[in-house]
Amino acid sequence: MPNKKKYNVNGDSGIKAQIQFADQKQEFNKRPSKIGRRSLSRSISQSSTDSYSSAASYTDSSDDETSPRDKQQKNSKGSSDFCVKNIKQAEFGRREIEIAEQEMPALMALRKRAQGEKPLAGAKIVGCTHITAQTAVLMETLGALGAQCRWAACNIYSTLNEVAAALAESGFPVFAWKGESEDDFWWCIDRCVNVEGWQPNMILDDGGDLTHWIYKKYPNMFKKIKGIVEESVTGVHRLYQLSKAGKLCVPAMNVNDSVTKQKFDNLYCCRESILDGLKRTTDMMFGGKQVVVCGYGEVGKGCCAALKAMGSIVYVTEIDPICALQACMDGFRLVKLNEVIRQVDIVITCTGNKNVVTREHLDRMKNSCIVCNMGHSNTEIDVASLRTPELTWERVRSQVDHVIWPDGKRIVLLAEGRLLNLSCSTVPTFVLSITATTQALALIELYNAPEGRYKQDVYLLPKKMDEYVASLHLPTFDAHLTELTDEQAKYLGLNKNGPFKPNYYRY
Ligand code: NAD
Repeated sequence: MPNKKKYNVNGDSGIKAQIQFADQKQEFNKRPSKIGRRSLSRSISQSSTDSYSSAASYTDSSDDETSPRDKQQKNSKGSSDFCVKNIKQAEFGRREIEIAEQEMPALMALRKRAQGEKPLAGAKIVGCTHITAQTAVLMETLGALGAQCRWAACNIYSTLNEVAAALAESGFPVFAWKGESEDDFWWCIDRCVNVEGWQPNMILDDGGDLTHWIYKKYPNMFKKIKGIVEESVTGVHRLYQLSKAGKLCVPAMNVNDSVTKQKFDNLYCCRESILDGLKRTTDMMFGGKQVVVCGYGEVGKGCCAALKAMGSIVYVTEIDPICALQACMDGFRLVKLNEVIRQVDIVITCTGNKNVVTREHLDRMKNSCIVCNMGHSNTEIDVASLRTPELTWERVRSQVDHVIWPDGKRIVLLAEGRLLNLSCSTVPTFVLSITATTQALALIELYNAPEGRYKQDVYLLPKKMDEYVASLHLPTFDAHLTELTDEQAKYLGLNKNGPFKPNYYRY
């Protein structure tokens, strides 16, 4: 297998982003992950709970109760090396993939460039992620870059059956369907790795279950594996634990904490999805409504910006004077929750903290006040305190509860205090595009790295790669990036091709 020292990914859009991986070792930071940043309630294990999947499945195939494991299916080329709900849904899944491609410009750009270069030629990638149209775009890109892939789902509910069918039809050995049992879940993972005549040499994981399975069942496989790319908070945490215990056998890339991904997940994604989540659950109008947002960090800033733009009157609570001052500068009234709790129409928590909204606050809210959380797990609103005999709970819609006080007052609790956007809205494909591109570049980097560049440790992507991920998304907006002149580059002490900021820079 040729050892490619450098993968030239120069843009053809006027953006020159040459990634020279060879000299960047010193740019890699190692830092602990943010643990428990988010969780979904619908996964099989904690490990698969903290990353995004996209929309719900449109075809549940609930009419067909036969387990895919008991079905004999072949794709049109005669291959049966897959296990999906129904291969006949492939055409519908293909359309979903084509729609996702429109919003994943960076992967499509990588594909174009791969027509000459095949930076993943010889790579045998085993993947375990949500199986959605966006993942399909990633898998097909990896294929175009020269890799062979085998794939399972990291979550028992999030697989889009039609997309899995489309991938199987195109020849990808996919083992996944919506509504797997726990036994199915591990069986699917095993079918990806336990194959005659095929051994993975790269792992792309989301949640750490696949990595865990290989550690447990096939530890010898690590002799051939060149690296692990991990996407989720939990998976990254497990990798750091392995590394600390001296048990990590191969280098690993922490994709979760790369700058672009963090910005998109926290600020921009929440700016987009807060309105979506509220609208889908309540059909409410935002103009003129009084909203209090607790916490003015990245997530809070996104929520406030969206609500302000819709004409809501937004109050902010903060504990940190710096973020508090930012809220003031952005034109929001900084208050204590107690001061506005009687008058607001919506309460949104985004603090990463616990018991920010207490039973006392809930008692004082006005009739029909909507209460929801965009922050950490389900700890921010003291939902447990509402489970008392004098209060009545009425499930009025999926993810919407009315909690009714003895005097008839009711509050509208969304997603039982879990993350509103992950529970009740979709995640923009563009956000997933950032992550998927980062994953693809991390795989390329680890696969092509010369022996010894990476130790058995967990690494962050170099800033230059983050800059490259961003630059690949710019043409979507016909954005024209200014190039440094030689004189300017010298003045700032920068390389004209980046990186443009020191590692400590806060964007
Ligand atoms: P952050 O640290 O930037 O912001 C949190 C802010 O809350 C801080 O400024 C902090 O000072 C403030 N705060 C803490 N306790 C408070 C209290 N009692 N009252 C008022 N303010 C308080 O973090 P972030 O990136 O904005 O993330 C916030 C939370 O959202 C985290 O739990 C994170 O895991 C989660 N998150 C959610 C999503 C999503 O899609 N919903 C995406 C990313 C992160």
